[in-house]
Amino acid sequence: MSRKIVIAGAGVSGLTLAERLTASRKDISVTVLESENCPGGLARTFERDGFLFDIGPHRFHTSDSTVREYLLEILGNDYVTISRSSNVYMAGKYRSWPLTMKSVAGLPLPVLFRSFLDLFSRNSKEQLSTFADYVISKYGKNLYNYFFRGYTKKFTGCSAGELHIDWAEAGVNRAVIDKNVDAGDLFSLLKGLLIPRPVSTMFYYPSFGGIQTFCEKQAERIQKNDGRIMYGCRALGVETSNGKVSGVKTADMGVIPADHVYWSAPVSILFPDAGFRFMDTLLCNIALSKEQNNNYQWCYFGQEDILFNRLTVPRNFRTDAVPESADSLIVEITLNNPEQRNDPEILKDRMIDELERVEALSASDIIFMDWRIVSGTYPLYDLEYRNRLSALVLPEGLELTGRCGSFWYNNMDHSIGEALAISSGKAFTKDFWK
Ligand SMILES: Cc1cc2nc3c(=O)[nH]c(=O)nc-3n(C[C@H](O)[C@H](O)[C@H](O)COP(=O)(O)OP(=O)(O)OC[C@H]3O[C@@H](n4cnc5c(N)ncnc54)[C@H](O)[C@@H]3O)c2cc1C
Repeated sequence: MSRKIVIAGAGVSGLTLAERLTASRKDISVTVLESENCPGGLARTFERDGFLFDIGPHRFHTSDSTVREYLLEILGNDYVTISRSSNVYMAGKYRSWPLTMKSVAGLPLPVLFRSFLDLFSRNSKEQLSTFADYVISKYGKNLYNYFFRGYTKKFTGCSAGELHIDWAEAGVNRAVIDKNVDAGDLFSLLKGLLIPRPVSTMFYYPSFGGIQTFCEKQAERIQKNDGRIMYGCRALGVETSNGKVSGVKTADMGVIPADHVYWSAPVSILFPDAGFRFMDTLLCNIALSKEQNNNYQWCYFGQEDILFNRLTVPRNFRTDAVPESADSLIVEITLNNPEQRNDPEILKDRMIDELERVEALSASDIIFMDWRIVSGTYPLYDLEYRNRLSALVLPEGLELTGRCGSFWYNNMDHSIGEALAISSGKAFTKDFWK
């Protein structure tokens, strides 16, 4: 009898694990359970009438050579390398991101002057515990008030004082900084602006389809190696016997027997009363009949009076993400409001007005607006999240993994790195944000 491994979730984590296990071990049987009808999870791509829409901007970027080798092994020859071009919309203008001297010089003078004075004032708090503490200590009160405070409230629905400091250490560092840009505090940010160092801007992307192509290729390999992927199969929890895992309960397919379970679906399914909260995102995928001259791949919008957090332009990843001479936009909004969840179209007029205001599109060029709700896009690191995680008691044979499974604010390369470590029996620590 072969040992039965069941993996909940066919996102990057679950599929990397299944692909490696089926490739390297013949003494086990591997079954992946996926509630959607396709692989990919958050790295999924929606297609309509020849337009491809990923879930926001998705690119492969890693400094880990093992992860890069695996990534390229799966993609084979089917990838392109693209130079990154991202923007932030601040004080009514598009500015390159990470910030350059030129774009900073264009900020309103009072903001620049007050931020400069912050260099000389130190944060008096000894114990930094919240997102707000962290940002103020690193960038000063003025930049915090000018950019981070409003964006955070809009993005997470929580005030910066309600969020754990880990949210800043993982999120700000990742969003603000590329590996070569030391912008970890106001002083080094200014130093980096005055004496810029080369930024690592290249990233990998599949050469056909969207980001989901990567997971489709993994799924093909798993099936070729006799692994099983059950789509449309919703896992409800684990069954145990004498404190050990014996199977996974599913909504429609009974109990799938298991000797070991890797759980990459949301941890809140296993522990519904523990209080884990995820953010959900509303995507509005817009097809446009003509090119709109948006020259960034993605752009952040921090202003509170603008509904959306980020815009992505698929044709700036690959021109064939849209039909010839057409264009498109992916608009991301955090869903905090039950009315918007029930009927996202109530936002339509306001959204079109705002997109025109920031000159992202011309309304007369819209072919369609395709609304999608994606659940569990970000784990919400409130002040109690670490206590919640450490209070979990897992039965023998159950392992939490991946972004939703281990409540981990990670990227695809981290999910791959973790799965490679697990499948080869190596230790893996999740303190990458340090
Ligand atoms: C807007 C956005 C932009 C991003 N951009 C980037 C980027 O540019 N680069 C990058 O590296 N990373 C990016 N990420 C992060 C990246 O998407 C994730 O780190 C990665 O996809 C996580 O993979 P995962 O398998 O751990 O989790 P998931 O993708 O969440 O996989 C979990 C899987 O479980 C399934 N599932 C859920 N419930 C059940 C159930 N009850 N039963 C069975 N299956 C279930 C889900 O459908 C899903 O397939 C971005 C994320 C978001 C939200």
